[in-house]
Amino acid sequence: MLNDSLSKALNDQLNYELYSAHVYLAIAAYCSGESLDGFANFFMVQAEEEKFHAMKIYKYLNDRGKRVTMAGMDTPLNEYKSTLDAFEHAFEHEQEVTRRIYHLSDLAMNDREHATIQFLKWFIDEQVEEESMFDTIINKLKRIDKDSNAFFMMDAEFALRTFTPPAL
Ligand code: MG
Repeated sequence: MLNDSLSKALNDQLNYELYSAHVYLAIAAYCSGESLDGFANFFMVQAEEEKFHAMKIYKYLNDRGKRVTMAGMDTPLNEYKSTLDAFEHAFEHEQEVTRRIYHLSDLAMNDREHATIQFLKWFIDEQVEEESMFDTIINKLKRIDKDSNAFFMMDAEFALRTFTPPAL
């Protein structure tokens, strides 16, 4: 049986995943405003992924007989100095998500809640991917620096990113 405090912590994470979608839509909007449609697309796809993460927890709580509740959201940062600044913000955000997932995992381990420990393993793996992706892009952006050809090639590459929802 999933206890109420672990269930509440999972529900909080569901809401934080939706907040992540909100953060990435704010960055997408900044990129759109800069006429960087590829970068905007990258962050819109990222927002879709975050909604998928939220729905994964939604389904899990339902499967465990728990009632999901939706929370209000903070205003994300809407202004950035550059795309590098936006990616650095995204990377810091993902590091915070990782901290929260680890905390959830600690709670599940303290409760010896094996199904939840197993469920969270997917999120732990996902965070390794997310952090690695943002770190790589930040390094590329730093190397590109003022090379506008390389920068616009990156924008074109990001225009191709799509979201294919996996099974929940
Ligand atoms: Mg996420």
